[in-house]
This record gives sequence, structure tokens and C-alpha cells, in this order.
Amino acid sequence: MRARAWACGETPVVKGVPPDALLSFIERLKRSETLGADIVHAASLPGQDASYASVSKPLPEPIERALEDLGIGALYDHQADAIDRVRSGADVLVATPTASGKSLVYLLPTLEAVLARPGARALYLFPYKALAQDQLQGAEDLARAVARRGGVIPGSDGLPGTGRPVSAAIYDGDTPGARRRRIKADPPDILITNPDMLHLGFLAHHQDWRPLFENLALVVVDELHVYRGIFGSHLHHVLRRLLRIAEHHGSRPRFIASSATIANPGGLGEALVGRRFSVVDRSGAPRAARHLLFLNPRASPYTAATQLLAWSLEQGLRTIAFTKARKITELLHSWLLRATPACAGRVSAYRSGYLPEERRDIERRLFDGSLSAVISTSALELGVDIGGLDVCLLVGYPGSVVSTWQRIGRVGREDRPSLTVLIGMPDALDQYFMANPEELLKRGFEEVVFDPANRVIARAHLVCAGAELPLETPRDRGLYGDLFPLIEELEREGALARDAGGDRWYTLRRRPQRDVSLRSIGSTYTIVDDGANRVIGTIDTVRAFHETHTGAIYLHLGQQYLVTTLDIETRRARVVPVDADYYTEVRGEKETEIMEVLAEKTEGFLRAGQGRVKVTERLTGYEKRRLSGRDRLGVFDLSLPPLLFETVGLWVVVPDAIRDGVVEREGHFMGGIHALEHAMISLFPLLAICDRGDIGGISYPLHPQIGRSAIFIYDGYPGGCGLAAKGYEELAGLLGRAVALLRACPCASGCPSCVQSPKCGNGNNPLDKTAALFIAQALLKDDPGGENARGAPVIRPAREASAPPRAALSPLPSPWRLMGRGEEHEPLPTPLRRGSSGLGPAGELTLILDVETQKSAEEVGGWQNITDMKMALAVTYNQASSQFRTHLEKDVDRLLLDLAMADRVIGYNIDRFDLPVLKAYTQWDLSRIRTFDLLADIYRKLGFRLKLGDLAQATLGIGKTSDGLQSLKWWKEGRVDLIEQYCKRDVEVTRDVYLFGQRNGYVLYRDRDGKQLRLPVEWK
Ligand SMILES: [Zn+2]
Ligand SMILES: [Zn+2]
Repeated sequence: MRARAWACGETPVVKGVPPDALLSFIERLKRSETLGADIVHAASLPGQDASYASVSKPLPEPIERALEDLGIGALYDHQADAIDRVRSGADVLVATPTASGKSLVYLLPTLEAVLARPGARALYLFPYKALAQDQLQGAEDLARAVARRGGVIPGSDGLPGTGRPVSAAIYDGDTPGARRRRIKADPPDILITNPDMLHLGFLAHHQDWRPLFENLALVVVDELHVYRGIFGSHLHHVLRRLLRIAEHHGSRPRFIASSATIANPGGLGEALVGRRFSVVDRSGAPRAARHLLFLNPRASPYTAATQLLAWSLEQGLRTIAFTKARKITELLHSWLLRATPACAGRVSAYRSGYLPEERRDIERRLFDGSLSAVISTSALELGVDIGGLDVCLLVGYPGSVVSTWQRIGRVGREDRPSLTVLIGMPDALDQYFMANPEELLKRGFEEVVFDPANRVIARAHLVCAGAELPLETPRDRGLYGDLFPLIEELEREGALARDAGGDRWYTLRRRPQRDVSLRSIGSTYTIVDDGANRVIGTIDTVRAFHETHTGAIYLHLGQQYLVTTLDIETRRARVVPVDADYYTEVRGEKETEIMEVLAEKTEGFLRAGQGRVKVTERLTGYEKRRLSGRDRLGVFDLSLPPLLFETVGLWVVVPDAIRDGVVEREGHFMGGIHALEHAMISLFPLLAICDRGDIGGISYPLHPQIGRSAIFIYDGYPGGCGLAAKGYEELAGLLGRAVALLRACPCASGCPSCVQSPKCGNGNNPLDKTAALFIAQALLKDDPGGENARGAPVIRPAREASAPPRAALSPLPSPWRLMGRGEEHEPLPTPLRRGSSGLGPAGELTLILDVETQKSAEEVGGWQNITDMKMALAVTYNQASSQFRTHLEKDVDRLLLDLAMADRVIGYNIDRFDLPVLKAYTQWDLSRIRTFDLLADIYRKLGFRLKLGDLAQATLGIGKTSDGLQSLKWWKEGRVDLIEQYCKRDVEVTRDVYLFGQRNGYVLYRDRDGKQLRLPVEWK
């Protein structure tokens, strides 16, 4: 058995090097001529002994005995503590470092629960497939050991010796179809999957998973800290849907979650799951001493990394190097092989683009010691145990303190001290920590944030929820709280339909889950590899414009692709694989408008706000830059429509007095606010885990709504991802850190380590570092003149009417389609003319019209010959006088005159049927008749043509007396009287449906299951 599933009792496969080997290596580095002088800080963290404890009530005997068999004599105290809390009925969250044995915390209670109540099920969620594989093996090993000690699920006959071990299986995107069907028919005791499959495979088909949902006792959510930003908002809604479905099937599962060490794990757990967690965040696992070096190389950081790798191999130290880019992983690997050819075969690169088998193989060789070094992207940061390593090279700051400690945790063990070298890159965050190393060691961990109120994501999941079970008051009002009004919004837009009773909503589209990807937001573009003719992924609209515009180099799983075209119509990016030595960056202009102020504050000179903002981006071109050195190779034009989205942003108002101060010192004010914006954005990851690309910024010398200069920083995702809100909360701290960064950077006028941004749409122009420092310092001062207090202008939020067109980023492809009863297959073209919606004020002349014909469409050779069908007769109803009037063919001129004179002619399919029939009788331009076509309005909303009779039946409970075919027959029989009766009846029905809609704001129809649904209308 491999020891990786738990941290206690393992037998290290690879013996550690003697402790002095590591210490002499550190001495060698310090004395080295090439690198010694570049070590800016050294620290040693003492080790910690294990502390053990027992659970308060012994575990069932087969489990206790199995643990002994596996060499686990005792549990660490945090494991015992967490298990006790689970057993007492709490939802438990364990936030402890790597390799502290988190999986036992959920495996043991799962086994206990399943053995105690056969049939009970546990659902394990892992964010990545690789982690699921690892856990399956751990669960099966433990279950078999327990079974050997008599802990089995009894067979159906209940005879002794017929039981089976607790079973576990993975059900994810890689599971073959036949196996899926078997698992679905008879789910194992432990089902292992990921949130994406829970969303698409389990919730969407919950009726097929009854045995699971009816008996769901435990839900395990591992690696909770991964769910940040958009992914976090999606998981939040998926878990809500899970609880809703579980409740429907009669179960209320408990949660066990685990996370890396982060700030406020309980807050994250509660925000994601909606339950208050009992948090265990202190680890009893042992560890040896850790040594840390901060290296800020004057030469290339990659040369330094290669050098360090070669030396550690020479010394016999087992090493992992983490890089920030897949390309760099490959380059370092080849440079190392060139520098020390002898180590070929003992060194490997590792990144997410590798096939699962290749990755498994590398992990195995690391674990058994046949590999001495691996160069990896963040892909190896999580989960899978890779055995005992000695040295960790961080080639660039990993982006967060959380992630830094995760990576440090990959080396060293209980009896094995470790060394980590952080190599500084020319980047603001790296240089911030090179200047303030103690802060990295002492400062707390970041928070993981997301926005549970992101409206774009909430809307998408409400539609999914409504497809799983109708949304209804009061249950879902309680569950969705403040988001509940979105349901009515979705109803008005036609995505949800309310039933006749008025308190249930149904989703009209089938399987809306298929259109919602948990890894992106809003509608997406498909990326197609033209050579291989296969889809390699999807990308949301904002990122599609930035990363897959025509001419872009797009990185996917380590492979570079050249984008040959970005087709806006078909939402496709066509790409071909290439091997390029450059990358691309877009250029353009942005502007932002405040839609709603959510909060404002003033502290001295610092006046700031937070709110919903609309961002408009015009991407005008892109640059090609060399991968090494970032030299610009050329600028190319782009023609793309403007990109509009609504998100959450913060703004810092820069008072006129500060601007005047910059000008007095002959600084460049615009360059100053722009440089400060860059510095603040680059330091954002100190507040909450994020990438630079997750946020955007715009600096204004004068913002029209604020009336002053302002710096805007906003979430780079429609609807927001929680970052700007966090930045607003800690604004003064962020500005203080920007001051420290600008002061510490030795450059004269700004460099990539302080104010230059690789993502700047303006090509880092203008930038004035000195002015930025002056502005930041001034903002943090008291404001003796009281300009803010005196002259703070009132911000006038932009009108909602100027909100971005939903179409661009709508989560629902539009128009959605539904095939219902009464549907006709011939699509309705755009109405001849779109009347303004509804009737004019009282006193205006409104007519309701219906025309019957002499011939059918078939008889005249099709609908294109509609003018040959000829009018049999027509009936109008005058709303003002309440009079019906019958017009025969010979009276057609009078009818046309009546229609032309009316302020409004209402009909059912009038634009496509009645008027075209009448066109045969006149040269007039009938499009000048002011019509309001009820069918056209309904079609726009429903996407299919509803027959008048079905509409009247559902809305008014009355049927039509006859139909059009009968009327044609009557015409041949000369029964004009019967046609007149029938036609008048149709006019009455049209009138009454219209009046019903006008009065109630909706009409009713039945879907194909016969459910009576409301269709909202605005008939004035
Ligand atoms: Zn600098
Ligand atoms: Zn910029």
C-alpha cells in the first residue's frame, strides 16, 4: 500500500540525506561567487513534534484494527478533534498544511456511517480529476483493510461471510459510458466526482440518482481554497442546488470540507455552503526544520534557477522547481540538460498538458526515488503525494502566501529538513517581498474571495434549478433570499414561466445545465483546433476578446496556438498549434460608468467608493513581444466591436489639491495616477488570492460623474468576483503597500518591478513613478484643508437604461427554443412592421380584425401566393363603440379605409396573414396601417407560434367554435352566415385574450406536458 492517503505511519520510500548535506549546500550557496551576494534574506523555521490524541469514543472495532494493520497507531490530535466534531453532528472544516493527513478526517467518519447504516451514501467532490484518482485508491485501500477485520456491508441474504467491503467509484468526464450506466444503476457507498459533473451529470438527472440522493449522508468538499472568484460563485450555486435536490429526496447531508491554510476558512466555508462550519485549523502533524533563502538575482532569474538545480543534483538533494509558466518549465528543463547532460533520465518536466498516464508515471518515479528533480507548473502544488524531497525552488513568487506554503510543504518531512529558495523575478510582487522578506514569513494568509451575489452566475443557476425542480415560494424564497427577485426578472425575459397559480416557476429550456460552464462566466466562445478539427476548449466573451482575437498567441495546456480567426457571429476562435518565440498583448481604450453606488467613505484625503460599474472596452490592436526580454516586435490593428460588461468596482477620488501638488513639482499627473493604478493592481494579490488578470483599472484626470480625478479598479468578470469589494475594505492598507513598493524600487523612473504592467492596454504610457509616490502618500495624509468634506460632489449613477445590451454577455443563448403544443413548424419572420407596443390613450380608435379566406395556402400553391387566397369576409370590432362589423369581399374598400383611419388595429397574426390577404385588393402601402400583432409579440417571447385556440383555452377556458379548414368548406358550400359567426367569434376571442393580458400582465398557455404556464406581456 502506498502511504500517500494518510500522513501517519507511512514508511518513507526514499531515505533522507543526512541533515548536514542540506546545511553544507546552504553554506555553498551563501559563499558562491555568482549567487552569494544576491541572497537578500535567510531564515530558519524550527521543526515541530507530532502530537497525538484519541477520539473520545472508540471507532468501531474493524476500523480501529484496520488502522493498526496499516501501521497507524494513533491519530494526530487535529485528526481526532475533527473526527469527534463530525461524530457530534457538526459540519466540519479542516484547514491545515499539506501532508497533515486530512483525508482520514473524512474517510473514517464515512466508513463508520456506511457500516452503521448500510445504504447510506457519501459524495466526495474534488476540483480536479487527478486528485480524485488519488483519493479513490486511498479509500479502497482503507475499505479493504477494514473488511479484512470484519467491517463489511452485509449481503442481501444476511448470512455471515457474505458481506462486501465498503465500495467507492469515480464518476467523472473520463468514466466510460457502460461503466457510467452501471454506477448509476447501483451507486457505490462512496461516489467520487467533481463539481462540474455534479452540475451536469447528477443534478440535471437527479431522478436517475434516487438511491444516492435519498440516502445522502455526507458531502466532502476537498481543497476548498481552490474555489475563488468565478469558480467559487459557481460552486456556491451548485451546492445550493445539491441541498435543494437532497431535501426534495428526503435527505439532509452533513459536510466535511478541507482546505489549505488560508485566512478565515470558516468564512469561506459558510459563504460557499451556507452552513456554519466547526473549524479545525491547528495541525498536530510533525515536521522537521525548514530553511528559507530569498534570492534576488542581478542576472537572469532563469540562469540562477538552472544553476541551483544543477548544484542540488550534484549534492544528491532531491529537488522540485516551481515555475510560473508552462513554457518556462520546458525551457528550464532543456537548459538543465544542456548544463549537466549526466542527469538525463533523473530529471523531468511536469505540467498540466501532459497525458494523465504521463503524469501518473512522473509522480510514481518521484515517489519511488528514481527521479531526482522535477520542474513543474502549479500542477504539482496540490494533493498527490510525491514522496520525500529536500529542496524547493520557487522560480518567481507563486502569487499568494497560501500557495507559497503549499509548495514549501511539498518538500521535507517529519525527519527530513528542507530548503526553499524563492527566486525574485522583475515583477512588482516579487520585488515587494524581496524588499520585505519578513512580511512573507510573518504575515497572515490571504483570504479566498468570491461574490455570492454575482447576478450573471446566479441567473444561470436559477435557470438550472428551475429545470431540476420548479422554483417555488416559500421554499426557494428562503433558499435564495436577496436573489429571489431575479426569478421574476428571468420570467419577464422568458427564461422561466410562472404557472397559473402564480407561485411556481418552470424553466422552459431543456437541460440548461449544458450551457453553463463552472469555469467561466456568461456565454462562451468555442476554441477549435483547425488542423486536428477538434474543440480544445471554451472561453468567456471578455477573455475571448483579450486572449483569442485574430493573431493572438493562445496558450492551452502548455501548447501555443495561433488564432487564425475570431468569428463573433458563430462565437468561434479558430486556432492552429505553433511554436512561437513571442506572446501577444491587446491594446485599446476603456471607460467606465458608475451604475450604482454601494458604499462610500472618507478618511482624510482618501475618499473612495464602491459600486456597480459598467465597463466599455475598445480593443484597437495588439502587440507581439519576445518571450525572453519582452522586446516589442510589432503592433497590429484589430477591428472588434466594443466589449461591454457590468461588474463591481472601487474608485479612489484624487482631490484637486493633490493634482496641483503634482503639477507644482513638475510631475506628470496622468502618468502619476496611471502608475499608482498599476502599483495598486499589482499588489492586490496581497489582499485576496487572485491573478493580475482578474482585475482591471482605469485612471481618469477628470471623471464626468465624480467631477474629479479618479482611479478605478474593477473585477474583470461580468457581475463581479469579490476582489474590488475586498480592495475597498482594505484600501488604506493597499495604498500603504504601494508606497512601500514605490519607495523600495531602485529604478529611476519606473520598471516592471514597480509600475510597469505587462497587461497595460496603453503600453505603459504615460507613467510617472515619482508622481505616483507623491499621490499615494498624499492620499494617506490627513486633509487639513478639508477639500473632501467641503466639496465632495454627488455622484449621479448612470441610468439603468444605458445598461449594456444583455445579448453580449447573456448566460442564455437567445432566442431559446421550446417545442410546445400548438406549435407550427414554419418560423415567423420578423414582423412586417413593429408597432409600438400597446394602444394609445383612451378616445383613440382601436379596431380588432379577423379575415377569413376563400382558398387555402395549399390551393394557391403555397404561402408565397397568399394574395391569391382572397378574402371571404372580415369582421372588425370597434372598441370605442363596442360594435362588430362584417365586411364582404365587395366591401373591401370600406374595410381598408376603416383600417387606415384607425389609430390601432389589433389582430392575431395580422401582420403575416390578414394584411397580406388584403394586399390583393389595393395599391396602398398597407404597412402604414398601425397594427399590433398579438401572435408576433407572443412569438418574440416564446420562440414558437401559439394557436389562438390553445391560447384562449388556457387563458380564458374557452375553445374556438370551429377552424379555418371548416371555414373554407363553408365557403364552397356558400354558407357565408356560418363563416361570419365563426369569424366574429375569433374577433371576440382575440379581444378577450387581449383584455386579459392587459389587465393581468400575462396570458396563459400549456407546455407539452400540459402544465399551465404564464407568459408575461406588456399590453397597454
Ligand atoms: Zn522600479
Ligand atoms: Zn495601464
